[in-house]
Amino acid sequence: MTSAPAGLPEKIQHYIDGQLTDSVSGEWFDVLEPTTNETYIQCASGDKADVDLAVAAAKRAFDEGPWPRMLPRERARILYKVADEVAAMNERLGAIESFDSGLPIRQAKGQAVRAAENFRFFADLIVAIEDNAFKMPGRQINFVNRKPKGVAGLITPWNTPFMQESWKLAPAMASGCTVVLKPAEFTPASAQLWTEVMENAGVPNGVFNIVHGFGESAGDSLVKHEDVRVISFTGETTTGQTIYRNCAATMKTMSLELGGKSPAVIFEDADFEAALDSTLFGVFSLNGERCTASSRLLVQRSIYDRFVEAYVERANKIKVGPPSDPTTELAALVHPEHYKKVMEYIEIGKGEATLAAGGGRPDDLPEGNYVQPTVFTDVPRTARIFQEEIFGPVVAITPFEDEAEALDLANDVKYGLAAYVWTNDIKRAITFSQAIESGMVWINSHNVRDLRTPFGGVKGSGLGQEGGYRSLEVYTDQQAIHVTLGDVHTTRFGATGYSENDPGLAGPGA
Ligand code: NAD
Repeated sequence: MTSAPAGLPEKIQHYIDGQLTDSVSGEWFDVLEPTTNETYIQCASGDKADVDLAVAAAKRAFDEGPWPRMLPRERARILYKVADEVAAMNERLGAIESFDSGLPIRQAKGQAVRAAENFRFFADLIVAIEDNAFKMPGRQINFVNRKPKGVAGLITPWNTPFMQESWKLAPAMASGCTVVLKPAEFTPASAQLWTEVMENAGVPNGVFNIVHGFGESAGDSLVKHEDVRVISFTGETTTGQTIYRNCAATMKTMSLELGGKSPAVIFEDADFEAALDSTLFGVFSLNGERCTASSRLLVQRSIYDRFVEAYVERANKIKVGPPSDPTTELAALVHPEHYKKVMEYIEIGKGEATLAAGGGRPDDLPEGNYVQPTVFTDVPRTARIFQEEIFGPVVAITPFEDEAEALDLANDVKYGLAAYVWTNDIKRAITFSQAIESGMVWINSHNVRDLRTPFGGVKGSGLGQEGGYRSLEVYTDQQAIHVTLGDVHTTRFGATGYSENDPGLAGPGA
C-alpha cells in the first residue's frame, strides 16, 4: 500500500452529527492513488442505513437546532470562520487533492482560496439580500418570507472535489439548510478536511454531515430519502437523468449541473496568440477533467492550417509528469476506469479523424493513468469524439467557412454548458454569442468567473442555474404572506341578502 499524504487519518470515515463513524455495515472500499493505481487508504462505504442516520441528524439540527433560526449576520460570522479555516489549509489541501485526484500540484494549489471565497461570498449575500414587499394602500400588504428548505443532499463529482463541494456547501449552509454531503467515491480524501473546518468554525453538530460511498447505494439513498427536500447534483448527464427520475417520487427541488462538450469558435480576425494560449489551457488544464473544457475547437478555414500547426506544436510540448512535480502541466487521470474510457475514445477517434498529436500513453510513464495531450483534426460533426464528452486531455478541431456554419456546428451537440468566442468584431461577438445554445459564453477569454453571474447549462448540460442569489433560490422557498389592512371584504355565503359591493371571487387587485 502506498502511503497517504500528511494530514490524512488512517481511514476515511463518515461524519454524522459531529462524530466520525464507520459504516453501519462495517464495509469499506479502496481508494487508489492515480500514478500507481495502488490502494493508499480505505474509505467507509455507506448505504441506506448510514444515509438514514445522517439525514435524521440533519433534520434534528434543522427542526430543533439554532442554525436556521440565526440572524443572517450570526450565520455569516460562522461562515467567515469556515472561509478562514479553509484558506489556512491551502498547502495541505493542495497536497491531498493532488495526491488523491492526480491534479498537477500547481493547479491543485489555490483551490482552497477559491473554496474560501465561496463561503465569504454567500456569507455577504445573506446579509445583503432583500426580499420583496408589495403594498396596496389601505387594503393589503404582501411580503415574501424566504425560508430554508430543510435538509439538502449534496452530491459531487471527482474533478476538483473540494472546490465543487464548497460550491454547494456555502449557499446551502448560508441559506440555513442543514446538509448531507455525498462526495465522489474516486476522490473522498479532501472531504475529510471539512470535518475539521466545521468544528473549528463552530458549526453546530448535525448541520454538516458526510456519507461516503458509491452512487448506486449512498447517493441513491440520499436522492430517495423523503426527509431530503433538495438535491444539488454535479456529475454526468446520464446520472443526472437517473436522479431527475428518482426525485419525482418525493417532489424534491433539484439543481443539476451536468456534462459538456463546449465549443471554442475562433474567427479569422481573432487575436491569434491569445486564442491559442487560452484554448490550450481550456482543454489541457485540470488534466482535461473539466466540465467547461473547450473540447471542440471550431476554426475559420482561412486560418485553420496555421492554427492547427501552432496548436499541435504547443500540445506536443506540454509537460506530462507526476502530479507532485511543480513543473508538470498535465498529470495522471483520476482512476483506471476513467483512464480506460479516455483511451477508448482515443482509439475511436483514430478511426474518425486525423490524429495530429498524442494518441496514447507517454513512453516515459509506463504506469499510472497518464495520457498524452491528444489532438484530432478535421473532425466531422458526426464523429463520436465531436459529439460525446470525453473528460480528458483530448481535443477535436474542425474547420468552418462562415458564421452560419460555425453556429450550426457549435449547436449541433446534445450539450449546452459553456462556449468561447474569439473575434475582435464586437457586433459579431455579441450576436454570435447570443445565438449559441449554452448557459455561459466567454468572449475572448477562457473560463474566468464572476461569482455573481449565473452558472449552469442548457439542454443536456443541466437544469436550474446557480451563482449569486440564484444559488440561494435553490435552497430556499419563498413563501408569500398576505396581510389584510382595514376591513376584509368577503362574499357572505349563507347570509341573507345580496350586496352591490359583493367582491365575488376577485381579490383587492394591484
Ligand atoms: P458521476 O455522475 O459518475 O458521479 C457524480 C456523483 O454522483 C458521485 O458522487 C457519484 O457517486 C454520484 N452518483 C452516481 N450515481 C448515482 C445515483 N444513481 N444516484 C445518486 N448519486 C449517484 O460523475 P463524475 O464522473 O464523478 O464527474 C464527471 C462528470 O461531472 C462529467 O460529466 C462533468 O462534465 C460533470 N461536471 C459538471 C460540472 C458542471 O458544473 N456542470 C462540474 C464538474 C463536473
